[in-house]
Amino acid sequence: MNQSPTAGQPSPIHPGLCARCVHARQVRSDRGSVFWRCALADRDPAFPRYPRLPVVDCRGFAPAPGGEPQPR
Ligand code: SF4
Repeated sequence: MNQSPTAGQPSPIHPGLCARCVHARQVRSDRGSVFWRCALADRDPAFPRYPRLPVVDCRGFAPAPGGEPQPR
């Protein structure tokens, strides 16, 4: 997976699969912008730390308990 030119930028678009993935982390900046970070990237460089959104297909996807992303 490659990072897009806007990877890591705040985005108003829906995160797709990341919204329901156990590996997803929502990070809020000091200015209140919300970023989606992939924690799987910490141990597998094949995954982008800040995936291009929306993620519609991902081999690392694992449903989060309750379908909610984990806290930061
Ligand atoms: S593993 Fe895939 S779906 Fe899960 S947070 Fe990372 S990029 Fe998003």
